[in-house]
Amino acid sequence: MNFSFRGKLFLSYSLLALLMAGLFYVYSNHFLGQRLIEETRTLLLSEAKVVQLQIEGLPADASLQKLAERLGGAMHARITLIASDGRVLADSSVQAAQVAALENHLARPEVHQAFSGSDGSAVRYSETLRTLMLYVGVHYDGAVGKGVVRLALPLDSLEKARSTMHLGLGALVGGVLLMALLFSAILSGLISRPLRAMADAAARFGVGEWSLRVPITGEDEGAYLGRVLNQMADRIEQQMLHLKEERHRLDTILSSMGEGVVVLDPLGRITLANPAFRRIFEVPEDYVGIRLTEVCRNPDLLAVYQSHRDTGLEVGRNVTLPAAAITFATHWVPLGNQEGTVAVFHDISDLKRLEAVRRDFVANVSHELRTPVTVIKGYAETLLDGVLTSDHATATRFVTTIRSHADRLACLIADLLALSELEVSGFSLELASVRLVDVAAAVSGLLEAKAAAKGVTVTNEIPVDVPVVAANRQRLEQVFFNLLDNAINYTPAGGKVRMSADTGVAKLTVRINDTGPGIAPEHLPRLFERFYRVDPSRNREGGGTGLGLAIVKHIMLLHGGTVGVESTPGVGSTFSFTLPVQQ
Ligand code: ADP
Repeated sequence: MNFSFRGKLFLSYSLLALLMAGLFYVYSNHFLGQRLIEETRTLLLSEAKVVQLQIEGLPADASLQKLAERLGGAMHARITLIASDGRVLADSSVQAAQVAALENHLARPEVHQAFSGSDGSAVRYSETLRTLMLYVGVHYDGAVGKGVVRLALPLDSLEKARSTMHLGLGALVGGVLLMALLFSAILSGLISRPLRAMADAAARFGVGEWSLRVPITGEDEGAYLGRVLNQMADRIEQQMLHLKEERHRLDTILSSMGEGVVVLDPLGRITLANPAFRRIFEVPEDYVGIRLTEVCRNPDLLAVYQSHRDTGLEVGRNVTLPAAAITFATHWVPLGNQEGTVAVFHDISDLKRLEAVRRDFVANVSHELRTPVTVIKGYAETLLDGVLTSDHATATRFVTTIRSHADRLACLIADLLALSELEVSGFSLELASVRLVDVAAAVSGLLEAKAAAKGVTVTNEIPVDVPVVAANRQRLEQVFFNLLDNAINYTPAGGKVRMSADTGVAKLTVRINDTGPGIAPEHLPRLFERFYRVDPSRNREGGGTGLGLAIVKHIMLLHGGTVGVESTPGVGSTFSFTLPVQQ
């Protein structure tokens, strides 16, 4: 049976009260009963002694039967006078005529005791009167002779008094018991109430109400327990706050990380995934419990995870997801106590791309340098082998070729230096207000002779009132030069090159249009890449480095501008750049 603390307290108080009341009742009952009999016995003995004195004062011929009847009537007791031999001489409750018929009383204990010199007494059931009787016997010695006077009193009146006393005592004990029960109910309530309050508070702590405190009254053990509980709650609240802060910090770190982070349990189910990881693998928000194999089926990635799981060791490996064209540097670290794994996915696609670009660039540069160097070396060796002295005309032709390839090398080196200068991270141009017409005029002046020699007409249609732009004049001249130079280079004799400018909202677009061969659409997207050529062999022969447009694009980017190209094969090309206008 499960009792509450209050119930138990009430039960123990009640049991104690019941036990005390029972003991009191039993003891009182017994004691008072004994006492009643003793008192009656003493009283009966004194009456017997009065009878004894009466008898001893009688003359020898007096009627004992009469005395017995008289005194018996007055005392409401049965008086029996017994001779030394046990014969009954008189009896107040028997007719004189029947006295002689009464049986010998010598064997009665009270009679026997009285004859032996002491006051006799006994309690026993009387067959004659069919009731419990108290007997006392006193020895007498008078003129009427020697004998014993015996007084008998039925105990039924005593029993009545006793049962009345029982009732009173019972009522008293019952009343006291009821009071005790009432008090125990009140007392157990008073004692258990603060405990109940503490238990309630502890239960509410348990469900996270950390700011709750137990009310404390007094200085007893209950108050001490309350204080201990409150101190415990203080500590837990602080720890919870600390944990919350830590959790918040961890969440912030994980959320702000560009790397994908995932925590897996020993069965490979996700227990935590940061936003970057969810983005990469398109993991839903309620991801907890989803298996890694469900979010990514890439065999390489799963193989890395498997090898980490098999060995239980830290593993770091690059994994490429071909579908998304992403390469990750993945790192798998076991969580202590075989609790699972933390994996970090770092997107190194850009790094890979840059690496590839750098590799291509080195290969391209080597390739570009090799041709002029080989030509120069070859011609120089031929010259040294005898041509220099034997054949002056050929020698002159060879030296001219060597010079033109040396020029080409110089151009290439100049372009490479220009490009590397522009590509230095953090490089910025010094800008000034520049009048575009001036730049266009200066550059077309530089290339005038070249165009004329080739039979290409260059027209400058840039309006004089075109807005001033914030630009680096020297670099802007380079842009104009590269584009105009290309246009003249790729336009056959009789062709036309036209420079124009459009003023739009806050920007200025410059166009250089030619009537050259034009460029097939598939080349256009890559035209501004380094070393990209539409027809590599032809351009190299023409002395182009393949870097001109890349330099144009970089300079424009540093100006906050853009570049573009439109072309129709067989009709011509239009290269353009856009610059922000100075407000
Ligand atoms: P290059 O030094 O070879 O001219 P550029 O970077 O200036 O290098 O040009 C890249 C390529 O773009 C050229 O090789 C050429 O194939 C093409 N190209 C550039 N300008 C023109 C143009 N005006 N007409 C046709 N093709 C052009």
